[in-house]
Amino acid sequence: MGTARLTIDLNALAENWRALDAMTEAETAAVVKADGYGLGVAPVAHALARAGARSFFVAVAEEGAALRRALGPGPVICVFSGHMAGDTELLRDFDLVPMLNSIDQMLRHAEAMPDHPFGVQLDSGMNRLGMEPAEWVALRELALRLKPELIMSHLACADEPGHPMNTRQLQSFREMTEGLDIPLSLAATGGILLGPEYHFDLCRPGIGLYGGLPFAEAQPVVFLDVPVIQVREVEPGETVGYGNTWFATRPSRIATIAAGYADGILRGTGGGLVAHSDGHRCPVVGRVSMDLITVDVTDLDQDPDHLRLLGEKQRVDDWADAAGTIGYEILTSLGARYTRDYRE
Ligand SMILES: *Cc1c(COP(=O)(O)O)cnc(C)c1O
Repeated sequence: MGTARLTIDLNALAENWRALDAMTEAETAAVVKADGYGLGVAPVAHALARAGARSFFVAVAEEGAALRRALGPGPVICVFSGHMAGDTELLRDFDLVPMLNSIDQMLRHAEAMPDHPFGVQLDSGMNRLGMEPAEWVALRELALRLKPELIMSHLACADEPGHPMNTRQLQSFREMTEGLDIPLSLAATGGILLGPEYHFDLCRPGIGLYGGLPFAEAQPVVFLDVPVIQVREVEPGETVGYGNTWFATRPSRIATIAAGYADGILRGTGGGLVAHSDGHRCPVVGRVSMDLITVDVTDLDQDPDHLRLLGEKQRVDDWADAAGTIGYEILTSLGARYTRDYRE
């Protein structure tokens, strides 16, 4: 009973997929890279497939192989990193669709497996992955002759609806794909929320499925309950934790709970992180240690036997704000030590 419990609500995950799917006429895929944003790719992908997702995206071929093992034949699995050196066998054996990112990848693919399905990733301005407009001009004819399954690009600023980068990238993507009779994809979670002109034929939400911003209406998917190991009295002026960074200004009760930075609770998390006991707020005080956190429970009527660190009252993005990061990093940092409980 010593480890914290991470509960993943697969119904909420499925509901979030359906809610995003209802916002668009396009096909709604699901991005499950990085082990399903840290939540466990097999249970997450099963739940999304049951909800209706038919296409999945991962970052690299190895993740695609793990996903194929989990899902079996049928669903389309696309790989953002494309066809890298050494990937050919994995792509073939696990029936994965690489999104080709460069002339080198295009030539490698055409030589190694010309009949194997592929997509093309274009760079519409983010300068991270994909062929640039000039490369695409040079390669377009060869690529089209081999009949890509999908042409995609990715938005750099989609979580800021008013950002002029969005319309610039939309324009660039339109110019590069004008007149083509091939399915197109530009939108991730943020792009879905920007509106239908960003949706094209297929949308690729990730973070919104897992309950994160910018999908503000998302249902929470992740709940974290941490057992209390002991509770102690601390007198005014006494300090708590490494570096004496906190001291009591009143007679206090401090609970020590069984999770720390080894579990993804980033040590740099500043003030603002709270724990909850039956809905009552209890501030985290002092430094986060490797396996332990200290929480001020003075205002509770009774000493709690566990405290909640993630849930309705403190969402992934609240936690991210306190840590100076984004929900994506909180989710993908969740540690391996938790007891994981998948709820249907
Ligand atoms: C991660 C990723 C997505 C999903 O983005 P979210 O913001 O999590 O919805 C979609 N497309 C690409 C290329 C990605 O890298």
